[in-house]
Amino acid sequence: MNAELITTGTEILLGEIVDTNAAWMARRLKELGVNLYYKTTVGDNLDRIAAVMRQALGRSDVVLVSGGLGPTVDDVTRDAAALATDRQLVLHQGSLEHMETIFARWGRSVQDNNRRQAFLPDGAIPIYNPVGTAPGFAVEVARNGTHPALLICLPGVPREMMHLMQNSVEPMLAERLGADRVYLSTRTLRTVGLGESVIDQRIDDLMHLSNPTVGLAAHFGQVDVRVTGRAGSPANAQSMTDEVADEVRRRLGFAVYGEGDQLFEAAVAGLLRERGFTLALLESNTGGELAERFHSLLNGQDPLVWDKVIRSAFELADGGPDEIVSQAGARWVAEQVRLAVASVPDSDVVTLAVCGTSDSAAGPYGAYRGETFVAVGLGDALTVKRIDVGGVDELARRWSGNGALNELRLRLMTASGSAPGTP
Ligand code: ATP
Ligand code: MG
Repeated sequence: MNAELITTGTEILLGEIVDTNAAWMARRLKELGVNLYYKTTVGDNLDRIAAVMRQALGRSDVVLVSGGLGPTVDDVTRDAAALATDRQLVLHQGSLEHMETIFARWGRSVQDNNRRQAFLPDGAIPIYNPVGTAPGFAVEVARNGTHPALLICLPGVPREMMHLMQNSVEPMLAERLGADRVYLSTRTLRTVGLGESVIDQRIDDLMHLSNPTVGLAAHFGQVDVRVTGRAGSPANAQSMTDEVADEVRRRLGFAVYGEGDQLFEAAVAGLLRERGFTLALLESNTGGELAERFHSLLNGQDPLVWDKVIRSAFELADGGPDEIVSQAGARWVAEQVRLAVASVPDSDVVTLAVCGTSDSAAGPYGAYRGETFVAVGLGDALTVKRIDVGGVDELARRWSGNGALNELRLRLMTASGSAPGTP
């Protein structure tokens, strides 16, 4: 079963509102096993909406439309659907009564413009809308030699659209799909510390599978590996997915820090908490980005991050090496942080110092030109590592920040005996 989406609304067309409906509907269709081939956005214009509907009905089994079912003059989806399917609009008594009940509750009577909302293309199947006034509807359009196409129109208000989708449209589509209905199961493994190309090499054979599919998504210093299996039952989809996802985990080892939508800083915070550590953090070239990530994660309420986060290494530079852009410089800075936090009573403090080039002239590829030094102080040991990324732009900060967090994470894992094997 092939579907396509039409979202209507001039404000969506012109980018004043982000088309979240289309993204949401697309995900739901995918989960049902409906193939989605086209997505169109069209402004509030009767002829253009009708033309897009006609075109869609000529090539898709199911056409899903969102928006334009309201009472105002620019809500023309009903008229367009009637035009595109060569039908008259006729009053749907049940929908009018639903509207009258709602309006009576507000102490009002149904005006003409609202009455319009109870008119549906002749023969349409109304889709009851308990969370709004206007019903959605579905029109079956006969086709030669095959089962009818389906034009489904839903309100644009996301809450209403979602409700109708989940409670009426999806069951309707599932029934039509019959034995073709598929169930999806997805696991997203989140990794840091390995480049996309290294991951690609290690799981190359798995990435060529057609079911489950294995895909990579790289963003800002981390790579997600998404495994999606499709099967005729939820249990089969899940076991297929698990088999491959577990194999990916095995091959990527400790580079996998978590799954699903877990943030990297959340995984690191979890390790710190588990081991009862307080984090003392000093950032120079990451410009406070790590501190902010931890703070937003913890809502500023967790004592995990030492409150007196020192944001600038330069504040400490008095009496230290002139250049902190060096291994020795990072070590010195980390030692200063350790001295500074030694006064915190009753806590195991782990220090993380991130220093490096902050050359703003590095330009768009600056991320690959500079360098960052990460010092981790844990117990008596202080280790310093160089990362080949520096610079102050957002990307560079993200890369060095994640690199630094990863150093911290690996040190915590080693210290607790859950030592990583091969990276
Ligand atoms: P109403 O009765 O409110 O007029 P409607 O069915 O006519 O509902 P629209 O007028 O198209 O729907 O949209 C109403 C509101 O819903 C928009 O102003 C917008 O805030 C939101 N909306 C509509 N379409 C989308 C979309 N595709 N993505 C996200 N939000 C949307
Ligand atoms: Mg409207």
